[in-house]
Amino acid sequence: MTVPAGEAAVMPTYARYPLTPVRGERLTVWDDEGTPYLDFAGALGANPLGHGHPAWRTAIHQQVDTLDITTNLFSTLPQADLARRLAELLPVPDARTFFCNSGAEANEAAVKIARTHGLAAGRPAIVALEGSFHGRTVATLAATGQPAKRAPFEPLVDWFRFVPPNDAGALERELGDGDVGAVLLEPVLGEGGVRPLTPEFLRAARATCDRHGAILIADEVQSGLGRCGDWLAISRADVVPDVVTLAKGLGGGLPIGACVARAGLAFGPGEHGSTFGGGPIPAAAALAVLATIEEEGLLERVLEMGARLREEIARVTPSGLVAEVRGRGLLVGVQLTRPVSHEVVLAMIEEGVLATEAGADVVRMSPALVVEPEEIDVAVKAFAAAVQHVEEAAPWPGRTVR
Ligand code: PLP
Repeated sequence: MTVPAGEAAVMPTYARYPLTPVRGERLTVWDDEGTPYLDFAGALGANPLGHGHPAWRTAIHQQVDTLDITTNLFSTLPQADLARRLAELLPVPDARTFFCNSGAEANEAAVKIARTHGLAAGRPAIVALEGSFHGRTVATLAATGQPAKRAPFEPLVDWFRFVPPNDAGALERELGDGDVGAVLLEPVLGEGGVRPLTPEFLRAARATCDRHGAILIADEVQSGLGRCGDWLAISRADVVPDVVTLAKGLGGGLPIGACVARAGLAFGPGEHGSTFGGGPIPAAAALAVLATIEEEGLLERVLEMGARLREEIARVTPSGLVAEVRGRGLLVGVQLTRPVSHEVVLAMIEEGVLATEAGADVVRMSPALVVEPEEIDVAVKAFAAAVQHVEEAAPWPGRTVR
């Protein structure tokens, strides 16, 4: 494993793992020395079809050969088709989509929608959840319920207030103040440790918003588009949001984000924009992603494979280090009893499997939706070996190390 020569010139915003992937196929990536790894990091959810899916590659190649880029001052066929497809697939009534390039931008658009409508109604405040993550732009950072991430940049905009996840009473009290125009939540808190919100809380959030004239924004950047077994994770609770944000999996590896809102909340001309947003190539890629999820029956498969992954981890890892295995579909988090997720992920790399951390004490696995049962078994074996390795290196108090 070598570090690329130019790496020193990259801003070190990421504490990088000691691995440089150079090639990928389905769920396997190879490093610069030709060593293969099973990819359960899954680009943090941005690789739903695995690496180089033929339908995705063909769609991109065809679009590159047809029309590469134009300005958003013109309509394009891929963008219009994609907006229509999202309107058909998502439960948002009479949906209108604004296209951008990332999750943070999709949430930035949603925040602007919340502000324009909230200000007009005299309810400019937005309530978000403690432990949430919504992006790194200034407004989405202000919306992120993790004080340590906000601290270096404060004061940020003071539009957001926070309540604990799954606390319907706290949400009701906050909206009772009368100045709240929107609630922003991740149906499964991803970066905050893979914590699914309960269906009861999601339904209570919808009812509270309705009672107080607030809009409900679902940040499905990580949880949406099949990752949790539905087009939207919030649909599991039968809740219909007013605004949905998407990114990560949408482009299957190309950058594209979407802010999908019911028609009455849509931006008008000049209210928002993006040079590259929903460009022909990423839009064509996204159409291929949606079509493949349908054609390969991936939504059902995700629930089955996700259940297998969680059950097998719980079964094969009888360890003082594992407190809980949680998540939905193929967004899986293993809660550890100590803050050693980094060590476990490093040990998994040694075992030939890639995973990520969702906080200091949660190991996250979000493999491509096309994952096979045998691949799950390999990942679980690597996880169990990694946990054992970490325990042996620093034994859990009271446990005897073999
Ligand atoms: N929202 C959620 C729920 C996310 O998980 C992320 C990224 O991890 C974002 C927003 C930000 O997305 P991006 O990194 O594409 O800006």
